[in-house]
Amino acid sequence: MSPDEKAKRAEIRERAITKRLGEMLEDSGDRSHGTPTGYVYGCRCARCTHAKGVASMNERARRLRKKAEASLWAY
Ligand SMILES: [Zn+2]
Repeated sequence: MSPDEKAKRAEIRERAITKRLGEMLEDSGDRSHGTPTGYVYGCRCARCTHAKGVASMNERARRLRKKAEASLWAY
């Protein structure tokens, strides 16, 4: 992929995200609210911020569990 093409794709993605964020901000009932996706889009409403917090907490728990399992198998 040429750098030109890459930049164009990044711009298209950027525009799509901006558009989605606009839709979300206009519609508090948008299905993306309360999901980590909404947070990634740039929504910082209470529901999206909470979803992001839960998602990273789950991720941390998953990592800890993996670590615990690995040490369990070491014995
Ligand atoms: Zn939101």
